[in-house]
This record gives sequence, C-alpha cells and structure tokens, in this order.
Amino acid sequence: MKKILSLILVLSLCVFAFAACADKKDEGKTEAPATENDVVSEDKDTAKEDKGVIKMATNAAFPPYEYKEGDKFAGIDVEIAQAIADELGYELEIVDMEFDSIITSVNAGETDFGMAGMTVTEERLHEVDFSESYATGVQSVIVPEGSDIKTVDDLAGKKIGVQLGTTGDIYSCDDFGEDMVTKYSKGADAVLALKGGDVDAVIIDNEPAKAFCNENAGLVILDTDYAVEDYAIAVRKGNTELLDEINGALETLTENGTIAKIVRKYISAE
Ligand code: GLN
Repeated sequence: MKKILSLILVLSLCVFAFAACADKKDEGKTEAPATENDVVSEDKDTAKEDKGVIKMATNAAFPPYEYKEGDKFAGIDVEIAQAIADELGYELEIVDMEFDSIITSVNAGETDFGMAGMTVTEERLHEVDFSESYATGVQSVIVPEGSDIKTVDDLAGKKIGVQLGTTGDIYSCDDFGEDMVTKYSKGADAVLALKGGDVDAVIIDNEPAKAFCNENAGLVILDTDYAVEDYAIAVRKGNTELLDEINGALETLTENGTIAKIVRKYISAE
C-alpha cells in the first residue's frame, strides 16, 4: 500500500513538473511578440500585440502639427501619435474637436490622450497629467507689414486676436487685459481678422504663425518671441499606466531618430 501511495505521489509530482514546464513554454510564446526582432520587423501590423483602439483628441487646424489634407489628418503630432500607437500595439483613432474641449474630452474618458501642440502649464497640470515634452513651442506675434507694433511691449493698448483657450489667449489677457483680446475658435480665423483689420496683431505658436504667414501675403512675424514653451501629450489625471506607456514609446522614438525624422519632414532647419 505504501508503495502504491509513493508511486501516486511520484506520478503527481511528474504531472506538476510537466505542467510547470508547459506553462513556461506558454509564457515564452506570449512574450515573443515583444522581442527586438519584432520591433524592427517590416510588418508592423503583425509585429505588435493588438491592444485595440486608442483615441487621440486634437484640433486639426494647427499646421504643421495637425491639420487636414482632404479627409486625412496630417502633421507632426499626427505622425508622432501614429508612431507611438504602432510602437505600443494600438490602433490610432483621431477625434477632431475645438482646442478648448481637448482636456474635458480626455478627462471624461471620451478620448485617451490629447495631442495638439499643447503647452505644459501650471494650470493644466491641475487638470491632466503630461508626458515628457516632445517639442518646444514659441508664442509669436503676427502683425501686418509696416505695423507700428515692433516689439511685444508695443502691444499695449492694441487689439489682439488669439485662438480660444490657448496659452496665447491666457498670457495676452493677463498682460494686456481681457478687453483688448478677441478670441477665435481657430488660429486661421484670427489671422483672417488681422487681414481684415479687425485686430492689430495675432498671438499664436511660431510654426502655425509661419504657416499662416506663408498663406497670407502682407503679414510678418515679430522678431521678438512672446513666450517659450514645452509641448507634451495630455492624459487623464492619474492614468499612470498609459502615461508610462507613452513616455516609454517617446523615449524609444527619440532614441531611434523617428521623432527627429518626422519633425524634419514638416519643419525645415533654419
Ligand atoms: N501651444 C498652445 C497651447 O497649448 C496652442 C495649441 C493649439 O492651438 N493647438 O495653448
């Protein structure tokens, strides 16, 4: 009887050991897609684990960071977001909205992250968490050629156009008074108002400023910068899991040169 019992014991130990080995093998299999070989694989769709859709909130009226080309989204943020999604194994879906609605949308969980040349500010840090910065922005001043506004100080007492809810809006209201600032839902509308003489200057980020001036003859950007800022990706406050994923992907894409390559495609070195 004792012999039979010990045989059963030995047999059950073997079964356990076998099961443990099988488990190890399975673990290996599920980890396989994350190996370095797969990261460099040409076939992006099958290389990464499929984690489903990730939604990006943006305002596609901010060239060269995000804008529409026909029905398609294009721009630096759009391509960086796509690279992040590819890196992490998500399918990217872009949701276009007013700039002013992006943080609300991310906090409501309607979208997973906001990316729109969005500046990291103290106030916004109370509402959302930001990734590491992936670009620098500068608030610039656009004026008509021949304007008597030559420096930022000359803006005192002038009518200023801005895009609603942007740092240009916030800073100019603080510095020159709410009464002097007209808020437009799109930067392009502020620029049209400048051309039409409804405002004397527009304060907007430097790269969109260049894009708008290229499209509209007779406008110039002041040499003096109004403010220098960091752009980052916003996630819902406390969503550290996604924030860590995004930061990890940003690090990889910075190190392997992808981000620099995307930026160079849209912004020529000066
Ligand atoms: N960088 C500015 C901000 O974050 C403007 C961004 C935008 O208009 N898309 O407020």
